[in-house]
Amino acid sequence: MKVEAIPAAQGNYLLHNYEETAANFDWTDVEKEFSWYETGKVNMAYEAIDRHAESDRKNKVALYYKDQGRSESYTFYEMKRMTNRAANLLKAHSNLEKGDRIFIFMPRSPELYFMMFGALKMGLIVGPLFEAFMEGAIYDRLDDSDAKAIITTPELLSRVPHERLPNLKTIFLVGEKIEEDQKVIDVQKYLGTSSDQFEIEWLDKEDGLVLHYTSGSTGKPKGVLHAQYAMVQQYQTAKWVLDLNEQDIYWCTADPGWVTGTAYGVFAPWLTGTTTVILGGRFSPEGWYKAIEDFGVTVWYSAPTAFRMLMGAGDALVKEFNLSTLRHVLSVGEPLNPEVVRWGMQVFKKRIHDTWWMTETGGHMICNYPSMTIKPGSMGKPVPGIKAAIVDDQGNELPANQMGNLAIKKGWPSMMRQIWNNPQKYESYFMNDEWYVSGDSAYMDEEGYFWFQGRVDDVIMTSGERVGPFEVESTLLEHPAVAEAGVIGKPDPVRGEVIKAFVALNEGYDPSEELIQDIQQFVKKGLAAHAAPREIEFKDKLPKTRSGKIMRRVLKAWELDLPTGDLSTMED
Ligand code: ATP
Ligand code: MG
Repeated sequence: MKVEAIPAAQGNYLLHNYEETAANFDWTDVEKEFSWYETGKVNMAYEAIDRHAESDRKNKVALYYKDQGRSESYTFYEMKRMTNRAANLLKAHSNLEKGDRIFIFMPRSPELYFMMFGALKMGLIVGPLFEAFMEGAIYDRLDDSDAKAIITTPELLSRVPHERLPNLKTIFLVGEKIEEDQKVIDVQKYLGTSSDQFEIEWLDKEDGLVLHYTSGSTGKPKGVLHAQYAMVQQYQTAKWVLDLNEQDIYWCTADPGWVTGTAYGVFAPWLTGTTTVILGGRFSPEGWYKAIEDFGVTVWYSAPTAFRMLMGAGDALVKEFNLSTLRHVLSVGEPLNPEVVRWGMQVFKKRIHDTWWMTETGGHMICNYPSMTIKPGSMGKPVPGIKAAIVDDQGNELPANQMGNLAIKKGWPSMMRQIWNNPQKYESYFMNDEWYVSGDSAYMDEEGYFWFQGRVDDVIMTSGERVGPFEVESTLLEHPAVAEAGVIGKPDPVRGEVIKAFVALNEGYDPSEELIQDIQQFVKKGLAAHAAPREIEFKDKLPKTRSGKIMRRVLKAWELDLPTGDLSTMED
């Protein structure tokens, strides 16, 4: 279902002329913005924190933190001192060396960021883990990456099966009343007393930075290794896509357990010296709006699932808060349904800018920019310096409006450097040594906008027509009864596949045969007859990852009575 294009917002944006910039841009020019361009000594923690602490930004707030019990702020100078202390304590109480893997498994708090950047200052590779992971998920990741240490809390410790992980030598515990032993170190005891001077471990730009396991939407999570050099792209897209300026107060709602929470939660904003908000605790519509009001958030980066939950909380609630500081809103992680974009225009009077990228790409790939017209339902256009295309299964570029593999020309700055422990998997992403093939299906229109259609494996072939599940789901969501929708292809002897929709209903609606027919008619009229689901099954809830992505493979497995595969990232 197409929604009318929304013209560019008025303003003086960092990317003011997309076409001109895209035609003339070269990534190597960005290298000059970093101190390592002169010194040859690289470290993300230096560029994101210390560099500002040694400049006019010294007393500027780097981090605002709030949860139910705490409300704190730290300047870049204070962040430098705290991360130095963290680095000293890590060094004094372990045998960790440059390149070793250390995992962080704890709820968001200032200590998480002190420790993360302390570890980076030591030259370690940091593996962030979402706090809701259970023992099996923790074991798999620590074992796969041969982790040497973990930073966690007493509450979560029971989920770290250290007896089964012989190479996990040290456990750093952040909490109260810690009993130390040879393996367990009390972080709070040393964080206040360690020296605030630390000699950074200088690295090569190709040395490791973070090891992120993917979200597990389509199968077993993969360990994606990124290099320090990713900062080139993260910095530049902080400007072009997030449009971050000196005065901005930026809030990215993603947990650092997912790549968005590191790359655009802290790296990108701090590389540009931007004040960043971190909100602890659970999602609540009131709490979120209040955070925007209290901190005066200007740039807000979130996800479709969160926007849909805010929609569900009602428009009246929005009016109880002063959100007038908001100037730029963005979304990532899942297709952004046109319905959500329309709602954003209604309640925030702001365009919601979709951004497409993945753990493996390490940075933004295809986005909407404030100075560009938005076509709701489209992911936008490639970041200047990125060549994206739709290719067939042989790697030939397809003409406009043909659905195929969404691919990126190999070799952008933040491209993954390895799939940990799995070189074959790494190789399998590349075609003809030219294209990185994303696994997503899309088409490009005549004006160069890209339209997401679904995961390649989820594209449905019905009576000879290729149907992307995303458009069907988006249309279903437009129906007043539908709260959530997941669409799969179900094998059919006559049609190849038929479209089956799983639907969760809004409050006040009950499943019935009439409702099924009404929804089917609605999709026929709104999209196309061949795209209307032949079967609709009502569910209270759809299976989702902890970062809010619908797991279509689980729906399919349920439907076909197949094994569901790795469920470590599925929400409860
Ligand atoms: P796994 O690779 O383990 O199956 P995953 O692909 O969900 O999990 P991520 O790297 O977190 O892991 O997510 C990237 C994927 O998320 C993309 O390939 C795409 O399918 C989806 N995605 C991200 N942003 C968007 C967007 N703006 N529009 C549509 N889909 C998006
Ligand atoms: Mg993926």
